[in-house]
Amino acid sequence: MDPGELRRIQEEKFLKQLDYVFEKSLFYRKKFETCGLAKGDIKGLADLPKLPFTEKDELRKSQEEYPPLGAHSAAPMEHVIRIHSSSGTTGVPTFIGITRHDRDIWTEITARSLFAKGLRKGDIVIHAVGLTFFVGGLPVKDATEYIGATFVPIGTGASDRVVLTTKMLRANALHSTPSYALYLAEFVRKKYGMNPAELGFRKAVVGAEPGGGVPSIRKKIQEEFGCLLCEGLGNSDAAPIIFGECQYQQGMHFCAQEYIVCELIHPDTGDVIEFSDGAEGELVYTLIDRECCPLMRFRTHDRVVVWTSPCPCGRTSFRLRCIGRTDDMLIALGVNVFPSAVRDVIASFIPRTTGEMLILLDRPGPNVEPPLKVQVEYAQGIEDLQRLKKEIEEELRQRLLFRADIQVVPPGTLPRYEMKAKLVKRLYGEE
Ligand SMILES: [Zn+2]
Repeated sequence: MDPGELRRIQEEKFLKQLDYVFEKSLFYRKKFETCGLAKGDIKGLADLPKLPFTEKDELRKSQEEYPPLGAHSAAPMEHVIRIHSSSGTTGVPTFIGITRHDRDIWTEITARSLFAKGLRKGDIVIHAVGLTFFVGGLPVKDATEYIGATFVPIGTGASDRVVLTTKMLRANALHSTPSYALYLAEFVRKKYGMNPAELGFRKAVVGAEPGGGVPSIRKKIQEEFGCLLCEGLGNSDAAPIIFGECQYQQGMHFCAQEYIVCELIHPDTGDVIEFSDGAEGELVYTLIDRECCPLMRFRTHDRVVVWTSPCPCGRTSFRLRCIGRTDDMLIALGVNVFPSAVRDVIASFIPRTTGEMLILLDRPGPNVEPPLKVQVEYAQGIEDLQRLKKEIEEELRQRLLFRADIQVVPPGTLPRYEMKAKLVKRLYGEE
């Protein structure tokens, strides 16, 4: 669609949603009042920056004070047909309710993203992601079926079943986290003595963590399975999968055109950053068609790079890559360090490393005192460990501009994850 025409549709839906939120959401009515904002002050999307941001913590508090779904919820409970929960990595879980209308929109957005990621009618998809609570579960089932592909719900912690079912059903697509795809490759090699490519996956549709866009991890998964890997990005509060990467793998396309308005902001000042090739900032969502749990200027804390130049696939929407979460970010002498970027450097040492790594934090971040301690698994048969250590330290200094103290550890030492990988271990008693 022509960008001007899309903007007109977004504008109309935004104003309608704003009216709805003022009327139905106690949380937003109070929040806007506190800022001295009246409905008439916002005349269109150009006024969006006048609205205050919404933080996840506010939703959590709102839910504690106004159970079950919080004062931000704008639909009566009898219209809520399903409740999901966010993973709760940063605290108490929060619930996200959806109405029938919200469910249909989630299905539409998620299906568009999965379609961009290459899923088609006729594909048989092994779903190796949790089905309970997680928005990457049931909504992905709805969207996969909507495309007309075949959904095989296996879930996590059942790798033998993944192997057996994939072979028996001749499944050709894997939907999982990138961490799980790596885990599965190692699992089939070790337990079945089999080349992972023999499983027959030709499409790996991944998401829920940044790994899929990390070049060395993408390369490893594609080579192991002999597949094309396309990643996606969603948000449990906004929609299950909002961005999907096409076969050209030049960043994930925005797929929620008439449902979500995206902004890019400076994470410290909150200033709006214009979308242009290479612009970097934090992603902010405003839902413009949501009944149950509306969000206005919701800070995702996802740090992204965007591109607006045309993609050979013909999609006109902007693309992005997630660099990491701003709440995972560490600062070493003023230099921003994203754990997923460290993982990329470590993975670039494959086959001399297994690609597995863990950052050890002695005390709470984000400010850390270099050298940053990082455990790295060397691969079987590697002998000159001192040289490997020095080379990784040098590469990190060159590429990410911080000083690391690499501890090389034997293969198989570090924990493997079937969901999102934990790249940082806190040694100061929080876990
Ligand atoms: Zn494209």
